[in-house]
Formats: sequence, structure tokens, C-alpha cells
Amino acid sequence: MKNRIIILCTVYLLMFTAYSFSQEYRNSGFSKPMNLAFNLAGSFGEPRPDHFHSGIDIKTNGVEGEPVFAVYDGYISRIRVSPYGYGRAIYITHPNGFTTVYGHLSTFYGAIEKYIDAQHYALKKSELDLTLNANVFPLKQNDTIAFSGNTGGSDAPHLHFEVRNTKTEHALNPLDFYPKNFYIDTIPPRINKVKFYQFSKDYFYSSFIKPYYNLSAKESWSFEHIDINDYYAFSLEGYDKQDSSENKNGIKKIEVYQNKNLVFKYDLTEIDFDKTRMCNAFVDYDEMINDNGYFYNCYQLKNNSLAIYQPGSNGFFSNKETDSINVYDIYCYDYNDNKTKITLEIPKGTSIVDWEIRNQKKILFLLTKDSKQINPIVFLYQDLKLYFLKIHFMMMFI
Ligand SMILES: [Zn+2]
Repeated sequence: MKNRIIILCTVYLLMFTAYSFSQEYRNSGFSKPMNLAFNLAGSFGEPRPDHFHSGIDIKTNGVEGEPVFAVYDGYISRIRVSPYGYGRAIYITHPNGFTTVYGHLSTFYGAIEKYIDAQHYALKKSELDLTLNANVFPLKQNDTIAFSGNTGGSDAPHLHFEVRNTKTEHALNPLDFYPKNFYIDTIPPRINKVKFYQFSKDYFYSSFIKPYYNLSAKESWSFEHIDINDYYAFSLEGYDKQDSSENKNGIKKIEVYQNKNLVFKYDLTEIDFDKTRMCNAFVDYDEMINDNGYFYNCYQLKNNSLAIYQPGSNGFFSNKETDSINVYDIYCYDYNDNKTKITLEIPKGTSIVDWEIRNQKKILFLLTKDSKQINPIVFLYQDLKLYFLKIHFMMMFI
């Protein structure tokens, strides 16, 4: 009984913490950065090669020149001008503990544009990254700061809008700062494919020649008798769309239940820029760099330390430990909690039936005599078996 009370108290405490957390954001008093609806060309946390998208991309109806406003009192703390990344961008530090970022701007407003012009001449530089103190451009909420554009790494006119915790510098979901009804999305995420991975107990790099199951457009699927051996994991390829736009955005949250018990979960609510590169382990890296779409890994590799995962459940399964069928219920959520459910049924396997293991991937590392580092420099998300070969001399023919 005592244990039960402790568990209940913990659950209530967790619920209260999560609730008060998001309420705190919504009460922060931010107004909108443009007089436009939140129709997104890119969502918070969606995967990109080498990083997570750290803000929202608000569409500007295909045109530039929409006025952009300070969402709260504060001051301009940084201005960047670059042909890459956020292009022309403004950072505003607010007294309530948050910093907002406005990217891909066309021109800055009034005195700000004149100031930047003068800096170009004074510093004789086309690229600028200026840190400003609070006296240079103090702002009131809704002051115009710039006009939207398409500068830097942008394919179409939009505003990249970002909210950061000023102290931790972690990126937060800007939608968490606005009333729920500001973001219209009633369509659940679309899942196209399930991909399976099979591996031995201590070695992951292998997969099947026929690893995919293609899914038709509906909200629930049931797979029966997928023959699988040893240890396995899976990923899902899909996206989320809003009612009002064709853009394929990211999937915010995935939960996997094995025989009704939660065994894997991620929820993208906050991004630590120091770990954003781990996005390469969040999705199937090979599929991403080959432009095959984003396969959301329903497993967490050992050295992937992103704080988005449910602790203690890594999404690796063994059908050696069961006598019958494992039923997996997988729920994929968008920001508005619309969900898609997939059910997989995997029986205990005794042999690999019509699936074969691909050739295992081999990577050559070079370690020179006086060098302390291995080339190429890589992030290792799991243990790797290394075989050492001594090379006495090497000749290169070009
Ligand atoms: Zn963006």
C-alpha cells in the first residue's frame, strides 16, 4: 500500500510539473511575429542532416516584405548578415528569460537598416555578426524590426522564428508560447513505411535486403507473422501535414507499446544545440543522406544522449525472450495530438525466413604513428569493433 501511495504521488507530481511547465510558456505574453497565421513550411525539431530544425518556418504567402514585429519588450542583442544560414537575422533578448530569433529577413526596419549599412562601411565587410548592448536598440512589444524575406539558406520566402531559453540557450517550441488554437492541424501524421533492423546481441550494423513494409493511407495497420530472428528494432518513415498547407513537416512524438507496456518514447519539446548533431542518430542516417525521406528511429543507440527520450527504454527487442507473439502498438503524434496508430505482431522466430542479412558496413580509419586522433573524425553512437592492421608504407597513384 505504501509503495502504491508513493507511485501515485510521483505520477501526480510528474503531471503537475509537465502542466505548470507549458502553462508558464503560454502565459509569457508573446504576441505574434507577423500578422499572418501559423502556416508552417517547417516544424520545430524536424530532422535535417546534422541538426534539428530549431524553430518554426512561418509561410508568408510566397512573397517577401511582410512586417516583422518584436513579440515582447526587450532589446536587439545580436544582428547577423550572411549569405548562408539565417541570412539577415535579428536576435531579441527579453526580460522574461527568453530570446527570440527572426531569420531570412529582407531588410531591417528604419534606424536598424541604417545602422547595419554604416557597419558594412566601417568594418569593410559584407558578412556581419554583431553583439549589441541593451542601449542600442531597446524595443517595445509589437515594434516593427524588419521585413520578411528569403535570405541565407532559404528556398522560398518565409520567416524562421525561434525561441530560446536565454540562460541555457536551448531552443524551445515557439508554438508552446501561443494559445493552442493559433495552430490549425486536424490531420494525423502520415506513415509510409516501416523498416526493420536485425542484429546480433553486441553488433548493430546490419539490416535486411527487404526491410520495408509499405503502408497504404489509413490510420491503423496490423502486421501478422513478420518472421524475425534474434534482436531487432524498427523505424518509421513519414511526415505531418497541416490542413492549410502541402508542406511535409516533422513528427513530434512517437510512443511504442510492447504488449501494452511503454517500451520506447521520444518527445521533441526542447533542443540542446550542443547535441543537435545527434539528429543523425535520431533518424536513419543512410536513408536521410540518400534522400529517401526521414525514417524516425524507434530506438536509442547507446551513445545518443539526447534528452528527448523516455529514460530506461531503448527500443531494442529480442524475440528469444518470449514464447509467443509480441504485439507492438505504435502511436505517432503531431503538435495538436492528432495520432496515427500502427500495430505490428511479431512471433517468436526460429529462423530467418526469406530475409537475408546485408553485407556488413566497413569503415576504414587511419591512425598515423604520431597522431592522437582517428581520421575520419566521427561520432560513435554505439560500440564499434575495431580490427587493427599495421601498414608499413603507403603509395598513392593519382
Ligand atoms: Zn527555419
